[in-house]
Amino acid sequence: MDTAIKKYYQEQLIEYLKSTTRYRNADSTIVQKLIDAIEVDLLNVIHENLHHDIYVVYEFMDKDALRNLINETNRGKSLAAQNEQSGGLLREAINFYLGYLDSKKHPLAEREKKGKKKQPSKEIKPVELVPKGENGTSSQKAKPETTEPESYDKLEGKKSEATVTRYERDRGNRKACIAHYGYVCQVCDMNFEQVYGGLGKDYIEVHHLHPVSQGERQVNPIEDLIPLCSNCHSMIHRQEDVSDWEGLRKKYLENKQNY
Ligand SMILES: [Zn+2]
Ligand SMILES: [Zn+2]
Repeated sequence: MDTAIKKYYQEQLIEYLKSTTRYRNADSTIVQKLIDAIEVDLLNVIHENLHHDIYVVYEFMDKDALRNLINETNRGKSLAAQNEQSGGLLREAINFYLGYLDSKKHPLAEREKKGKKKQPSKEIKPVELVPKGENGTSSQKAKPETTEPESYDKLEGKKSEATVTRYERDRGNRKACIAHYGYVCQVCDMNFEQVYGGLGKDYIEVHHLHPVSQGERQVNPIEDLIPLCSNCHSMIHRQEDVSDWEGLRKKYLENKQNY
């Protein structure tokens, strides 16, 4: 997928976001945080958990897999911790990307629909975003879905502050890890730019060595995170011990000689 197409997908995503209650009037930095969470963090989560070798998140169309990821952020150990650490931004990113796929805005989703009978589109509602009415909603008359409680802005303001702070710390960790190790796979020494030229510039996956404990303690970007190429990243997840990158490197170096 070239950058022009990627940009087009992103524009469609922004258009979709602007059509939702939550992001209709959001300022551009808040929108940008969500887009970054979708393009960077969700892409990493897809690599980490589903082992899909996609270059940009917009190529990922498997809605069932995304729904499973949302469940994982509620129940699964490592994703729940990751979501917690992002202040809920991870789950929000998955929800909104899923909503984007379901809307007519995603170019491929639209193409997919044309082949089928037209069905009333099921909007995926982002969870936990709109607080419930004070005394339940059952007594209210049917209203358009866009009606919001007055307290919405205040609640959301607080929530975004927490979200942004945690999210920035998370991004900072990723940056610090790459600043220390470089864009170099620590298992096989591969550098994407060397292999793919400009296309591979500044691309690397960052692996959490101790994902389960993430929510409990501060992540040390040098001890707990490690840059890996996509191959080694897939292989480390096939090991029983996903933190044993040195063992994987040993295997790699041994077998490389015979190959
Ligand atoms: Zn590698
Ligand atoms: Zn990983």
